[in-house]
Amino acid sequence: MKEIKRCCGLMLQGSLVALYRKCGKKGCRCELGEKHGPAYCLSYKEGGVTQMVYIPASRLKEVRKAMEAFSRYWELGVRLSRLNLELMGLRRRDVRAKGRTG
Ligand SMILES: [Zn+2]
Repeated sequence: MKEIKRCCGLMLQGSLVALYRKCGKKGCRCELGEKHGPAYCLSYKEGGVTQMVYIPASRLKEVRKAMEAFSRYWELGVRLSRLNLELMGLRRRDVRAKGRTG
């Protein structure tokens, strides 16, 4: 049970955004254009509103892995959907999108 959770349950949806910023301190290197960063955030939409969650550098690897797991899960869902169209008799295997008659 624990194994299943570990390999399949750890998924994250969203995209990693690298942020660079100025700290505002006088004479800092960022004043000359060498901004601080990157700091990483996971960006995702919730109810049409973009959410940003700060990801500490120490957790980046873990987050990237979970994002990959999500995209594998998503691809699988898409493939399953295509297959179901055939299984449900709504789309024949030999029918191609470009040869569609309507
Ligand atoms: Zn600075």
